[in-house]
Amino acid sequence: MLLLTQPHRRFNPLKNEWILVSPGRTKRPWNGKQETAQTEQQPTHDPNCNLCPGNTRASGEKNPQYTSTFVFQNDYPAMRDESGDSVSIEQSESDALFNAEAVHGACKVVCFSPRHDLTLAQMTPEQIFQTISAFINQMNELKTQHHWVQVFENKGALMGCSNPHPHGQVWASNFVPNELAREDENQKIYFEKHSSPLLVNYLESELNKKERVVTENNEWAVIVPFWATWPFETMVLPKFHISNMTALTNDQITSLAEMTQKLLIAYDRLFETSMPYSMGWHFAPFNNQENAHWQLHAHYYPPLLRSATVKKFMVGYEMLAQAQRDLTPEEATQQLKALI
Ligand code: ZN
Repeated sequence: MLLLTQPHRRFNPLKNEWILVSPGRTKRPWNGKQETAQTEQQPTHDPNCNLCPGNTRASGEKNPQYTSTFVFQNDYPAMRDESGDSVSIEQSESDALFNAEAVHGACKVVCFSPRHDLTLAQMTPEQIFQTISAFINQMNELKTQHHWVQVFENKGALMGCSNPHPHGQVWASNFVPNELAREDENQKIYFEKHSSPLLVNYLESELNKKERVVTENNEWAVIVPFWATWPFETMVLPKFHISNMTALTNDQITSLAEMTQKLLIAYDRLFETSMPYSMGWHFAPFNNQENAHWQLHAHYYPPLLRSATVKKFMVGYEMLAQAQRDLTPEEATQQLKALI
């Protein structure tokens, strides 16, 4: 097929943007930057870790002897709640080129396990279930006061994650951030045109084509999107229509936990390293509307390109023109699928 051998561009309907795909370039010799693989074995408890049970954090607070998940307010939050020293920024028409707004929000840390040395890939589906539930509890708590609650995990030193202790973050805000605003807008436009959600139709086609399906069970599927930007980027999608993560049933979370474990083990096997990535969930904003155009999904963005030490850089053409990839999404699917 032409798409697998010829340079071409693909359209990302969620973001309303194009990506340049250049098959064949993967064969070029690599003289670029080599990272150091994280191979050092971590202790089960690190007395210097601010997330381990019983340790005192930088704020002076002491972590409880937690045995499952543990949530606390980020000691260095990127946003503060309204009661804090929020700034009032006056804006006038003539200031359109110097637009700024006050923001408020909440930032929390979710520890996935008391064990310092584990990653989600090494946890049982039951333990992964607990972490998903902890995220959902946070959404339920924060949704009454915030328009958007972003839950995410930033894993690995390569992603700038400062602490190997398994943890994720929750950032709630009084505004809908850029990525969400774009997905909201583009799903809305599609829904108005087709009377069916974009990602529901998309997954249906992918399940028929099978070219980019990494793994699936009765409720969920993992695919490398047709328009994937990162070399081994995946999306986790439900096989049923659901706008919001807080509406998931326990059975649906159970099968999601099983699917997540499979995906993360495959990621670790790919380059025989604990795969670094950024991942997070997208769903309808908390705006008291029906949001039928929305379909819940997760994005996984791992940065590695061809080994544990060679990562993909988003520089040059990507910074100045548009994203580009060498390995086709179909090749990436084949490689991941073989490791499930
Ligand atoms: Zn999304």
